[in-house]
Amino acid sequence: MIEDVILEHDKRGMNKLKEYLPSDFCKRAAYFLHGNMEKILIVTGFYVGGYCETDGPVSAIMLRKALTSLGSKVDIVTDRYCYEVLTRLKIPDVHCFPINGEKESLEFAENVISVIDPSIIVSVERCGRAKDGKYYNMRGEDISEYTGKVDFLFDFPKTIGIGDGGNEIGMGNLYEHVKSVVLHGEKIGSVVETTFLVISSVSNWGVYGVMAYLSEIEGKMLLKREDRILENVVQAGAIDSASRKAALMVDGFSLEVTNRIIEELKREVGYSLD
Ligand code: MG
Ligand code: MG
Repeated sequence: MIEDVILEHDKRGMNKLKEYLPSDFCKRAAYFLHGNMEKILIVTGFYVGGYCETDGPVSAIMLRKALTSLGSKVDIVTDRYCYEVLTRLKIPDVHCFPINGEKESLEFAENVISVIDPSIIVSVERCGRAKDGKYYNMRGEDISEYTGKVDFLFDFPKTIGIGDGGNEIGMGNLYEHVKSVVLHGEKIGSVVETTFLVISSVSNWGVYGVMAYLSEIEGKMLLKREDRILENVVQAGAIDSASRKAALMVDGFSLEVTNRIIEELKREVGYSLD
């Protein structure tokens, strides 16, 4: 099953969280996305030690391309560090959410919704506020100073969260379980909920799982190897979250491992679509 493939090599207890979701959680999210494809707003970008990490923007770019090819209008909202990367790559329709206080952030979020008027909002590896209102990385460090309150967009009625650690937008759906399964879970776990949640070992892989189902629905293979996009994103200034280096890696996994995951997903869908 596609849900099993995106949870391979799990290091953070996501396989345990899976028990609390329907077994076809990724399929459900994909069908929900497919039913609301007109105007899609993707949010992404996770702060890691002065940079944005490779998990998030890589798959957001691939998803954007696939959805655009299917006729969707796609906008991306991120904040400072990832914005720099995406604009260097000349990705169109990228908006920078300011790192600001609650009142200003709420106003900005309301403005984004009214201007873009999305049919659905999809979060890809984007930090969501914890119970105390702050933003934490997996090490339990407070990164609020470097994180725009992008999660303020998620009062929106149609949303999908894709995450791999417990501190991302959407993990609020499983907060009670994140607390016990994830290291520092009670502190870092996000309380921000989404209509559907996709969990995976690497958030990019969760996006590829959704894209695998979209390929099946559309009868058109939307998945591609990650090589070029990852190279471009790293060249534009993103780093691997595990080594904290500008390496062709995502959460410590090599490009080869990710490409193998993509191949497995393609096999699940059936190569006949290629
Ligand atoms: Mg994560
Ligand atoms: Mg990750």
